Amino acid sequence: MNFTIKGKTINQLEEFVIKNGFPKYRAQQIYNWMYKHGTFDIRSMKNISNDLKSFLIDNTIINTLTLHDKSECDNTVKFLFKTQTNQFIESVSMIEDDKHTICLSSQVGCSVDCDFCATGKMGFISNLSAGEIIDQLLFIKNTINNPITNIVFMGMGEPFLNYNNVINAAKLMNDDNGLNFGANRITISTAGIIPKINKFIDDKLKFNLAISLNASNDETRNKLMPINKKWPIKDLIKVAKKFNENNRNNITFEYVLIDTINDTHQDAKQLAKLLKNSGCKLNIIPFNSIGNEYSRPSENSINSFLKIIHEEHEGFRILVRWSKGVDINAGCGQLATKGLK
Ligand code: SAH
Ligand code: SF4
Repeated sequence: MNFTIKGKTINQLEEFVIKNGFPKYRAQQIYNWMYKHGTFDIRSMKNISNDLKSFLIDNTIINTLTLHDKSECDNTVKFLFKTQTNQFIESVSMIEDDKHTICLSSQVGCSVDCDFCATGKMGFISNLSAGEIIDQLLFIKNTINNPITNIVFMGMGEPFLNYNNVINAAKLMNDDNGLNFGANRITISTAGIIPKINKFIDDKLKFNLAISLNASNDETRNKLMPINKKWPIKDLIKVAKKFNENNRNNITFEYVLIDTINDTHQDAKQLAKLLKNSGCKLNIIPFNSIGNEYSRPSENSINSFLKIIHEEHEGFRILVRWSKGVDINAGCGQLATKGLK
C-alpha cells in the first residue's frame, strides 16, 4: 500500500488510521506534524507510537515532491520540483519589504492555451494533487526564513480546471488547526472558467479571486486567450459583479500589458469603460519577455497607458505590479519546464 498522507484532510486521515486499526486521535497528531510543524520525516513525529510510525514508514508517502533545482535573483527564488511521476513544476518566492509572496502551481502544463503564455505552450500534462500543491508551500516555508504573508495560485496551470484539489489545498492552508493562513492572504487566479467561478461563489469560499482579463475587447482577447470565445468579456464582468455582491473582497482583474497588442491609448480607455463602477481591482502587470513573439512595452508606453487609465478610471482601483525576477524568468505566470522532460 502506498497511501499519500500529505494533502489529506483531518477526516480522511481519521478514516485511514481507524481502517488500519489505530486510534482516531492519532490522525490529529499526524495532521499537526505535517501542517503545523511542517515535518517531512515520519521518524521525527515524536508523540506517535513506534508501531504507528513503522506502519506509516512502510505504507505511506509523506513527501510528494523533491527539489530538482533552485535559482535565485535579488529577493526572488524559483524552485523547480519533481513529482513522483517525474514531472517538473515550478514555484516562486518573492520578498519585498515585509511581504513574502509565494506563487504556486496547480497543474503540470495547462490546456487553456493562451498564446502569450509559456505554460500554455506546454499543453496539459496533469493535475497536481492537494498534497503536491501544499508541499510546494511547506518546502518554501522550510527553506526561507521570512514568514510567508501571501499565497497566490499564479504558477503553472489553471486552478479552476483542477478545482477540487486546489480548493482542498487552500482549505488546508487556511485551517486554523493547521497552517492557519487567513483566507484573505490566499488568491486564486483564473483565466475565467465561468461555471467554476459560479461554483466558487456558491461554495461561499472566502479566498481572493483574480481573473486574467488581458484585453479590453473580445477581438484581442480571442487571440490572446482562445477561451474567450466560450466565456467572453461581458460574461466575465457580469460574474465579477455577482462575486463582489457576495464576498468581502472584490475581484481583481489582471491585465498583462503586451507591446502593441493591448497597450494602446484606446485600450486604456476601453478598459476604464469596461470596469467603470464595477468595484473591482485592476492589476496591471507589464509582460515579462520569455522569448516568444510577444514583448514587454517600453517604459514610455507603460507609463502613458497608466496615465490614461488613472485619468479615466471611475469606481475601481488600480494596482501596478512591476514583476520582479525578470532576469531568471521567475515572475509568476511565465513558468514552463520545457526541455526537462
Ligand atoms: N491560469 C491562471 C493562473 C496562472 S497564470 C490564469 O491564467 O490566471 C498567472 C498570470 O500570469 C495570468 O494573469 C497570466 O496572464 C500571467 N502571465 C502569463 N505569462 C506572463 C508573462 N510572460 N509575463 C507576465 N505575466 C504573465
Ligand atoms: Fe494557462 Fe493561465 Fe497560461 Fe492561460 S495564462 S495558458 S490559463 S497558465
